[in-house]
Formats: sequence, C-alpha cells, structure tokens
Amino acid sequence: MNRKNIYVTEATLPKFEEYISEIESIWETRWLTNMGNKHQELESNLKDYLNTPHIQLFTNGHMSIELSLKLLQTGGEVITTPFTFVSTIHAIINAGLKPVFCDVNEKDYTIDVTKIKKCITPNTVAILPVHVYGNICDVEKIQKVADKHSLKVIYDAAHAFGVRYKNKGIAEYGDISCFSFHATKVFNTIEGGCACFSNTAYNEILSNYKNFGITGPETVVAIGTNAKMNEFSAAMGLCNLKNICDNIEIRKKLVERYRKNLERVPGINYIDNQKDVVHNYSYFPIFIDESKCYYSRDELYEELIHNRVYSRKYFYPLITDLECYRNQYSSDETPVAKLASSRVLVLPLYPTLAIEDVDFICEIIKKEKENTDE
Ligand SMILES: *Cc1c(COP(=O)(O)O)cnc(C)c1O
Repeated sequence: MNRKNIYVTEATLPKFEEYISEIESIWETRWLTNMGNKHQELESNLKDYLNTPHIQLFTNGHMSIELSLKLLQTGGEVITTPFTFVSTIHAIINAGLKPVFCDVNEKDYTIDVTKIKKCITPNTVAILPVHVYGNICDVEKIQKVADKHSLKVIYDAAHAFGVRYKNKGIAEYGDISCFSFHATKVFNTIEGGCACFSNTAYNEILSNYKNFGITGPETVVAIGTNAKMNEFSAAMGLCNLKNICDNIEIRKKLVERYRKNLERVPGINYIDNQKDVVHNYSYFPIFIDESKCYYSRDELYEELIHNRVYSRKYFYPLITDLECYRNQYSSDETPVAKLASSRVLVLPLYPTLAIEDVDFICEIIKKEKENTDE
C-alpha cells in the first residue's frame, strides 16, 4: 500500500493566484512592514469577524500574550493551568510575573473554576485561562471570581479563533483575548497573532510596546520590543480570512466523522460540543483509558506511526514536568491535568484532510483494539 504520510496538521493556504494578487500592490508602495495598508485592512476585517472593539496585531501569538501581561505593569502572580502550550507560561515569566497552577476540569480540560479561589493570594493580579482545543472556559464564572477579587482576566485564545458563545464573539469575554495566527492554527498569517480588548487605553500602550515604544521621530515613551506584523503576513491573513467559514465547515464535517466512527469504541473518549457555543473545530483530541481498551496511549501513538499517521501528544509532558519548570513545580498538584496529559492524542485535522483518511485513521484505532483483545 502506497499511502502518503498524514500529519497532525497541514497549513491552510489560499489559492496561489489569490495570494499573488493580494501582494501585488506591495511592489508599488514598497511598504513591507510598520503598520502598512495590509496591516490596517486586516485589523479592520478582524475587528468585524471577531466582534471586538479594539485589536492589535503582532508578529505571533506569544508576543500578544507577553505584551498583554506586561501591560499590567505590576509584578505578582498569575493563575493559569499547566495543560497548555509552553508559550502561555513563558509569557507570564518573561513579563516579570509568577505562574500559579490551577487544575483543569475533567469535562473539557479548561481551568477548573471551583479551584481558582484556592490559588488566590494577596499577590494575585490576573487569571490567564486557556480555551484549550478551542473549547471555551467557563467565562461567566471566571468573570465572577475575577470581579470579586479585582483581578484581570486575560485569555489565551490561541485555539479559539472564530469561536462564538451565546451569540457573542469569544473575544468579548474577559479583559483581553490573545489569538495565534501561526501556520498550524485554524487561521494563519504564516506567523502572527492579535490581542482583542474593549479598554480604549490598551490600544496606545500595546501599539507602543510592539514598536520599541516609539511614538515619533524623536520620542520613545516606553521600553518596548519589536513585535510588528509585516505586510506579507497581513496579506496572507486577508486571503485566509475570506475562506475561513468554508474551512471551519470542512473541519466540522471531519470532526463529526471522527466522532461517529469512534462513538462506541471502549476506552476512547472525546470532548463533545459545548452548550451555546459555535465551535471552530481546531483540534480533535482523544483520551485513551488504558484500563478499558487494553492498549496505552503510547502504543496507539506508535501503531499510528507504523501506518504513517503522525498524531501528537498535545499537551505532554505537562508544563510542570518540563526540564525548565520541574524543579519549581510539581504535576501532582494538578492531578486532572496530569492524567489528561498521559492519555491524550491529537488526531490529524485540517481542511485538506480527506474524509477517507479519517476513516482510515479510525480503522487503525479500532483494529488495535481487536489485535490486543486476542
Ligand atoms: C500556538 C499557541 C500559542 C503561541 O502562539 P504563536 O503564534 O505560536 O506564538 C500560545 N498558546 C497556545 C495554547 C498555543 O497553542
């Protein structure tokens, strides 16, 4: 059998001609970066799509989180979860703050709201929950806790582009929502990201931070950095945004197929759609309960590779078990996250994935069960 490799994701691209025609005007203006026409147009289109009053574009999602935290200008502690990409935690530390790890819930692996209170100390300044896999956190309860203790809420919304809750854009919840436009995400600008917020004052601060704090030819008002999105990235965003609805629709069909195929497979669990949420179907994680299906997550991972299917263990190891953090933190304090991390496999999902490939992958998962049953 001569199948091609199937990776966990494949970057979404517009038609070649579409991108070429979008970048043509750059040869007339020779304006390659520093908030040019493409940058402005993308900001405006994203404001509409994400339903946000204010937006700042960045070189990547990581800088949107780091600079949003730097904006707090406080020092102190930030409550977050270890079941995320390292970027979330690195950003907290690079902004001069200290991460405090709260466990996740067993239903969708977002922050367990009932455990936030225990993590609050006189030094807490913010909560940084993650809409992990595009499933949303309990935004209403989080806001209640935050209001009661005067904390800011900054969402890592890297997985949640285009997600809607109760007829509002997900960026309308919390103080700031940070999105990633990395090549592997639902919406990409090659590399890129943005912060969305309603506080008008944040606009000036964040736009200064991303351009060295420069406000005029002879004035530098803040110790900023360089985190500007360039025009070629913004042009990619303009093209990809035109196709976003179609792409999410295809993702939805693929996820529905996965769920149908794996519905009654013992020991294989997945997360269902959430109530009142319009999803973006950014990832399809499954959680393998070894005691019910007689093979481990790692065995299935290897068997998939044997069939040239490259799934990923997002997020394993847990942040608190990584070399750079394990001396200061223990994963035993967040047992739900620890268990999830030992069971998770993210299966391939992207708009150019064929429905037959989904069936092929699910057959491997089911076959693995039969083999080990004997
Ligand atoms: C991708 C990602 C980021 C970082 O985004 P980049 O654009 O790659 O810098 C942050 N948090 C999470 C959860 C992510 O998946």
